[in-house]
Amino acid sequence: MDINRLMNELTDEEKIALVSGRDFFCTNSVPRLSIPRLSMADGPHGIRKQIGASDNGCSTSEPAVCFPTAATTASSWNTDNLYKMGVAMAREASHLGVDVILGPGVNIKRNPLCGRNFEYFSEDPLVSGKMGAALIRGIQSEGVSACVKHFALNNSENFRFMGNSVCDERAMREIYLKSFEIAIKEASPDCVMSAYNKVCGSYCSENAMLLNEVLRNEWGFSGVCMTDWGGIHDRASACLATTDLEMPGDTAHCRYELLSALERPEVKEALDRSVRRVLSLIVKHTDKERNEPDFNSHARLSQELCEDSAVLLKNEGALPLNRCERVCVVGDLFCDMRYQGSGSSMINATEVITPKDAFDRLGIPYDFARGYDEYEADDGDTLIDEAVELCKGAKTVLLFIGLTDYTESEAGDRENMRLPENQLALIDKITALGKTVVAISFGGSPFEVPFIDGLDALLHTYLPGQSGGLAIPRLLYGDVSPSGKLAESWPKKYEFVPFYDKYSISTTEVYKENVFVGYRYYLDHKDYVQFPFGFGLSYASFEYSDMSVTSDGNGYIIEAKIKNTSATDGAEVVQLYVGAPEGGVFKPRHELRAFTKVYLKAGEEKSIKLFVEKSALCYYNASEHRPVLEGGKYTFMLAASSEDIRLTSSVLIEGEDVPSPYSDRINALYRGFVPSEITDGDFQEMSGLEIPDEPPTLPLTMESRFCDLKRTFLGWLIYKSVMYFMCDRLEARARKLPEGPERDNSLKGAVFLRRIMNSNSLNSLCTCSSGALSYNVAFGIMQISNGKIFKGLKSIFTKTKAPSLPEENG
Ligand code: BGC
Repeated sequence: MDINRLMNELTDEEKIALVSGRDFFCTNSVPRLSIPRLSMADGPHGIRKQIGASDNGCSTSEPAVCFPTAATTASSWNTDNLYKMGVAMAREASHLGVDVILGPGVNIKRNPLCGRNFEYFSEDPLVSGKMGAALIRGIQSEGVSACVKHFALNNSENFRFMGNSVCDERAMREIYLKSFEIAIKEASPDCVMSAYNKVCGSYCSENAMLLNEVLRNEWGFSGVCMTDWGGIHDRASACLATTDLEMPGDTAHCRYELLSALERPEVKEALDRSVRRVLSLIVKHTDKERNEPDFNSHARLSQELCEDSAVLLKNEGALPLNRCERVCVVGDLFCDMRYQGSGSSMINATEVITPKDAFDRLGIPYDFARGYDEYEADDGDTLIDEAVELCKGAKTVLLFIGLTDYTESEAGDRENMRLPENQLALIDKITALGKTVVAISFGGSPFEVPFIDGLDALLHTYLPGQSGGLAIPRLLYGDVSPSGKLAESWPKKYEFVPFYDKYSISTTEVYKENVFVGYRYYLDHKDYVQFPFGFGLSYASFEYSDMSVTSDGNGYIIEAKIKNTSATDGAEVVQLYVGAPEGGVFKPRHELRAFTKVYLKAGEEKSIKLFVEKSALCYYNASEHRPVLEGGKYTFMLAASSEDIRLTSSVLIEGEDVPSPYSDRINALYRGFVPSEITDGDFQEMSGLEIPDEPPTLPLTMESRFCDLKRTFLGWLIYKSVMYFMCDRLEARARKLPEGPERDNSLKGAVFLRRIMNSNSLNSLCTCSSGALSYNVAFGIMQISNGKIFKGLKSIFTKTKAPSLPEENG
């Protein structure tokens, strides 16, 4: 394809069609000029290739291998794992005719309740960025494009379509944009997906600071930038801000808006640039050969990733288990393992192997009681009593617990940090029996463990993918030693999370904590932490020695020896933190600057070598708008977790003489800060930002949440009818299906749909409907809900005169 020739031959209408999707996961083709469509699929932990044109949910997507989600794989701290997973996903994608995989997601886990944390890697930008980069490299090594998402500051779900993340420049640069910067600079993804939300008042899809200045001009990204599905607002502004593709597209009013805006030369030029970028991506994917993936080996890889990622959180000698001993197994999740999250990333797995399947295959002797019903939150006395009866005669109880799809999913944030009540009641009764209790847990994010003292061991697998069931007995019986470490902090109680009571309760989300996210905050409040960032136990033990730090001009080389001092093979995640000089600009006590995972046979010793660029030691000076290196004594720490420092070495570094951007008062306030002492005024002074007033909930606007329609009588009627026809009936149908994966997936799909309907705005409902709900109808619904019945009816019947789409050949 000759792009210059095509640019001369394309009409304005065709150009506009090329920068928009056609049917949920494909772009428009232009058959007249032999321009084919691009095909995309979610991501990020397997391929969700829809069967047919619309978004059908998981049960009707093509079967594909469901790998562990990012929360799991991040805990392996092994970037090779992500690379291999990327290769496998890309092979399946190309087999299914998919050009672009919508992933990885490298957003930062700011708060443990975020419904989408399971799809993200870490609270730390280095871990998120490196893991994301490895996945991108793996995907793109097979000629498939990766789309890193959701750029940026997409850290909550309740208000994700209209939320406004108010964050200061320094926290953005050091934390929230950093993970994207690493992934983009190190792996050059072909695509970036902008987030739904606003950043400092401007929607990400039209945020010129994020897209044009940072992403393109500063980081040199030259690929395609697409909206999240339904994340378009003002089409011309988005085009000017260098958003190329509007997805899923087919929104007549956007095409109309863009065509009208072409009178402005700057929009015309911006559109041409977007069309060129989209065409370049299409060129990359024309005439590719499809391969035949080895689904079985991918399923095995999925198991290996889980084995390398599971985190042993407690072990008082109960693990590994003895093979000869009969165990008592309790918990619905044993038979009905929660192996993936719910939402757009839901995979129609090729074969799910639960722990029960694996125990049966391996001939492990066990007795079983359900203990609770995974699909209910607070039923259960009978199930609990049965389990207690069964366990009375046991020596060791394996308790399968965790967060369920009803507590955690895309499109909504969790209501609390607790396990479902029926499980808590069960755990209390079982731990009171005085048996050896080993808990195996699932879930995409941390939960409170008030019962921890009653457990002898706790093995957390997060969401382990379709072969997780096979990995679990191998970890429990010591065929492989657990070697995962947490890529996020587990606070003891939700109330210990900074600004917990302000999280996700309104449109405006103020990032008052600055850079003190996760362990960066807890290092000053160690009592609040149950399991620190970087923590994880092993059946082996490791010794660190011979640390040295040398400079090579560009940065620092850190060398040491790590020895497995036990009789068990194992692996150690070695973390390098650096503490900046005291005084000066406020900073966390120490921050992760490098890591590696060392696999060691029993008794084996290996040398490790890490590198930290000098620029990684800078803080971001918001007055100068650039990173600045402070001079003084930097402490390099080799550690087994953020709180378990094994070796240190100090280096005197010459810095720049740049005045602090903060007053002494702000510096003192933020150093080891107490959230209740930071006022809105302090944040404003620290950040130089105004905290905007919360937009009024009435009258309803196109940016109101769909669930807010309930605020007026007519809106309530519309809301109820739509929810009945779209969600209630779907859920009722799903409940009638026979027990099995199809029922589970259909139920998950129905729950997700309800969540997503509630959190959508009227605008996003129409822009993500692929033309099913036109803008004029959504606008009319808004007017009617506001009591303007005649105006609303008029809007509903006044269709937008949209430019036509290219004829497709069937
Ligand atoms: C999600 C994206 C996803 C897209 C397509 C959106 O709702 O936020 O992550 O890629 O849907 O399914």
